[in-house]
Amino acid sequence: MEFVSDIHLISGLVGTRPLQLYFLNGTKRGALLDTGCAPDPERLIFPYLREIGLEASDIDIVINTHCDLDHCGGNHAVKNANPQAQITCGEADRPLIENPQTMWDLRYNAYEAEHGIHYDEAGREAIFDSLGSSQPVDWTWTGGETLDLGGGWRIEIHRTPGHSRGHLAIFDPRSGTMLTGDAVQGSVYLDKDGAPALCPTYLQVNSYLKTIDYLESLPIKLLAGCHWPLKREGEVREFLEESREFVERADELILARLACCPHGASLRELIDNVGPELGSWPAAANPELVYALAGHLEHLVCAGKITALSGTPPLRYTLRSRS
Ligand SMILES: [Zn+2]
Repeated sequence: MEFVSDIHLISGLVGTRPLQLYFLNGTKRGALLDTGCAPDPERLIFPYLREIGLEASDIDIVINTHCDLDHCGGNHAVKNANPQAQITCGEADRPLIENPQTMWDLRYNAYEAEHGIHYDEAGREAIFDSLGSSQPVDWTWTGGETLDLGGGWRIEIHRTPGHSRGHLAIFDPRSGTMLTGDAVQGSVYLDKDGAPALCPTYLQVNSYLKTIDYLESLPIKLLAGCHWPLKREGEVREFLEESREFVERADELILARLACCPHGASLRELIDNVGPELGSWPAAANPELVYALAGHLEHLVCAGKITALSGTPPLRYTLRSRS
């Protein structure tokens, strides 16, 4: 649907959750924001473009908001259908977006060595299937650039790290629409029927909080993420506040839990104990808290509030003594 003049929302699913990709249809350039999972260009994006009288060759540029399978897994299929399409992303995410093995090592399997937490074989296979074939990125953004889509329509590229180091959001000054990808996540991901499905999955806590502050400082009239209902006017501020409150609550719950554990707790124990208090997503989704809670542990160590105990993995954490 064209929810703002020349900005189309292409809606699909990733598992049971909504997936919202965006196509900006300029007179000079067509820009596709994210390519979905590996099969999504063929099953979702190209059919939508045909419906509005366009085709794959009308995608002049792909902007990947960040390195995740549901945002860049379709890069190879888009490039395959239109070799002229320029594949772009945030500079810091480039190595992960270009190479599924690097994405696995540095993102999805980053918690095995220190925390002993990893996906089972079926999970690993599903991740690689969704990531598709490796696809070089043509060039990258650092944030602060603009892109001319033609007819005086210029969009802005904003750096919004926290869910990934190179995360981007795109602002359309004409309509006040900010396309945020997964830069801010509220307190939950909902499924297609509106029921809680998944915990937030940000990683770098300080960067994430700064991104929330940054977005609050901008004149956003409409916030359009990749998995959440569109937020208009006052809902924008509420969603940003909800995102910040979730982070603060997670910090508090971790510290409260560690206060009860004189011998410390591992990341897995914290996920099991804190998870049910943090949100009402299904218990089966709790393991996905590994991303946010690992981020919080790093954040609390840096803030001098907790200590990582030395010894063999999995790492254990305790409150820092006040002596
Ligand atoms: Zn996503």
